[in-house]
Amino acid sequence: MPKIGVLAIQGDFREHGLMLDSIGQNWDEIRLPDQLNDLDGLIIPGGESTTIVQLIDTYNLRIPIQRLASNGLAIWGTCAGMIVVAKTLSDKKPVPLGLMDIAVSRNAFGRQIDSFETTVSVTGIKGEPIHAVFIRAPQILNTGPNVDILSTLENGTPVTVRENKILATSFHPELTEDTRMHELFISIAGS
Ligand code: GLN
Repeated sequence: MPKIGVLAIQGDFREHGLMLDSIGQNWDEIRLPDQLNDLDGLIIPGGESTTIVQLIDTYNLRIPIQRLASNGLAIWGTCAGMIVVAKTLSDKKPVPLGLMDIAVSRNAFGRQIDSFETTVSVTGIKGEPIHAVFIRAPQILNTGPNVDILSTLENGTPVTVRENKILATSFHPELTEDTRMHELFISIAGS
């Protein structure tokens, strides 16, 4: 079984933990740099990206996460977590970790459609489309040449992307009862 950690400094890390529990996957809460050692996969949850990035820097997690990612640590960012892993943001702040070649706009879906739910088909996930919950979701503006788009909205906006072992979703699989995205990430982490 791969060793999975959930960054537990802000946001809905407990919900990710409950999903992992429900499929029998062990996991650890990660708050300090030495807890990153030996992980195969790290989940960065939804929440507030400015706070998450601020605390990543306060706890000196930025450089170790970047170093481990370049050595093959699998990382999955959901919603705010996707903002954290992005290479560029349309806002000046926060300064993201730059783990995936995507440009992202925070809260881009706008106030009227602040939050919405839909279904998306994700490459690599069999069966019914995934029920996707978007809450003040970031929007992917651009993807680099090595980024695979695994799902889009009907208008073509990418909402699940992968570059090597880095995965990002602009929605929140941890707020549904569908564990298939978590299973996909575990298989990436174990590969
Ligand atoms: N809009 C939030 C941010 O900028 C993300 C929202 C979420 O994770 N649900 O961090």
